[in-house]
Amino acid sequence: MYSNFIEIVEVAPRDGLQNEKTLISTADKLGLIERAIAAGARRLEVTSFVNPKAVPQMADAEAVCSGLPVRDDVTYIGLVMNARGAGRALETGRIDQLGAVAVATDQFAMANQGQTSDGSVAAAKDIIAMAQAAGKTAQVTIGASFGCPFEGEVSEDRVVAMAQAIAEAGPIEIGLADTIGVANPAHVASLVGKIRVALPDMPVRVHFHNTRGTGLANLWSAILAGASVADCAIGGLGGCPFAPGAAGNISTEDVIYMLDRAGVQTGLDLTQLIAANHWLADVMQRSLPGMVAKAPPFPKQA
Ligand code: ZN
Repeated sequence: MYSNFIEIVEVAPRDGLQNEKTLISTADKLGLIERAIAAGARRLEVTSFVNPKAVPQMADAEAVCSGLPVRDDVTYIGLVMNARGAGRALETGRIDQLGAVAVATDQFAMANQGQTSDGSVAAAKDIIAMAQAAGKTAQVTIGASFGCPFEGEVSEDRVVAMAQAIAEAGPIEIGLADTIGVANPAHVASLVGKIRVALPDMPVRVHFHNTRGTGLANLWSAILAGASVADCAIGGLGGCPFAPGAAGNISTEDVIYMLDRAGVQTGLDLTQLIAANHWLADVMQRSLPGMVAKAPPFPKQA
């Protein structure tokens, strides 16, 4: 039996925007964050503290943090790749939780963060320790968990071993990311199931990109296998600057439509998410990949 509540992490302000060529203003990023909170989001990945030369869209990380709404009931996540980024995030005083990334293959780890896969595990553990020393929490996402743009197939045993090594440092959860959108529901069920067996007390978050149209099926499969947290992005924006061919995240509106209709609670409001999609499409000056926002409401409103 699957959980009747799934926690949603809104990642549009970071993963959604980071690959956009046109620089989005800090005010518009804050507008997106405010709309997500108004729609019920209580955990948001708001920015990343990375080299602005590598990811120009995230160069305003500190400015975004200083404009964040002051809310006791919202957890703001800053993505960091190393101790330097973690230091920057903690220094803002506005980041509640550090998000670290360990990558399952050496070639992608080198492209994404200039270290081996084992090096990325060690760096993630250091980041967890820094968060804890500052009285904050940390979570770790295992990138390319279901396939690598450079090395192809990724062994499930490798991902489980990484999760076990990371768990020793005490993250609040382990995320499994299909960074390039190659997963299928059977693979997802198998890997989530293995992590749940290896680490029964560790919540599993999943992060799917809809590159090949399997994103929502993968999410549903992950939920059936015991995942309790899902990353998604308003509008289905997204991509990875270091992963060739990566496309958008599963869209928050599409996820909430599916879960609402399936009787799974999230605390998010579909009508407000659709309005946020339309607002963001105006900002981006194009139609966004999410599908529910383009469809008529169902059931028909009275
Ligand atoms: Zn992603």
